[in-house]
Amino acid sequence: MKRVVVFTGAGVSAESGISTFRDSGGLWEKYDISEVATPEAFARNPKLVIDFYNARRKQVLEAKPNDAHKALVRLEEKFNVQIITQNIDDLHERAGSKNVMHLHGEIRKVRSTRFPELVYELKSAEQQYDAVCERGFPLRPHIVWFGEMVPMMELAVEHVSAADLFIIIGTSLEVYPAASLIHYAGSLIPTFYIDPNARPIDKLTNVSIITEKAGTGVPALVEHLLKTK
Ligand code: NAD
Repeated sequence: MKRVVVFTGAGVSAESGISTFRDSGGLWEKYDISEVATPEAFARNPKLVIDFYNARRKQVLEAKPNDAHKALVRLEEKFNVQIITQNIDDLHERAGSKNVMHLHGEIRKVRSTRFPELVYELKSAEQQYDAVCERGFPLRPHIVWFGEMVPMMELAVEHVSAADLFIIIGTSLEVYPAASLIHYAGSLIPTFYIDPNARPIDKLTNVSIITEKAGTGVPALVEHLLKTK
């Protein structure tokens, strides 16, 4: 089976009602990133950071997978599919995709501030301010904050390097190191980039650009790939 790697960003969830990073009116616009999405922010004002992620978690729980998430599941009928998402929502999983890697963490989980391997799934939208891990240390959102290492990066590079086909969806390719992943896809493998604001990528000449929303562009591409395989 051919290996397809799908690299997604906030745009794939936009039509599910989850604000992208740079959307006007989105949650992110109301907060300064350095106040809510950095380790320094959490050290300075954990309640503000917890409130911010509680609000985002509520939004994610209310959202449903859209036609783009669902179409990617159909791709598994004929391909070995690995999704690598920058998103912290779980809409790929809820749509039914089997192999989903979260580069930037998962909003529905929290982890120990002292023992990062102690990760817990939250039962509700709210992380309590005073919740602790089983060893008594405070919990933090299971998110990779700005300025932190991206622990899954090495494995993601391996997947992309071994791909036969690469699909990029709904990402501005501005957040690093995640964005650098695209340069690990072989320069000869077919690559598709679906995003209404997609622009040609420097040094990559094998990219077909589809300037459409994910909800229409992804199902159309999936149908095409299933037919022409
Ligand atoms: P970004 O906000 O930088 O870019 C979003 C991209 O989505 C833009 O290029 C935009 O043109 C595109 N877009 C908007 N509507 C779309 C649609 N309907 N269909 C397809 N594309 C659409 O997001 P990013 O590149 O993912 O990087 C931002 C960072 O913020 C990531 O690290 C991510 O973890 C985080 N983030 C995650 C979520 C989420 O989990 N859903 C939401 C916002 C931000």
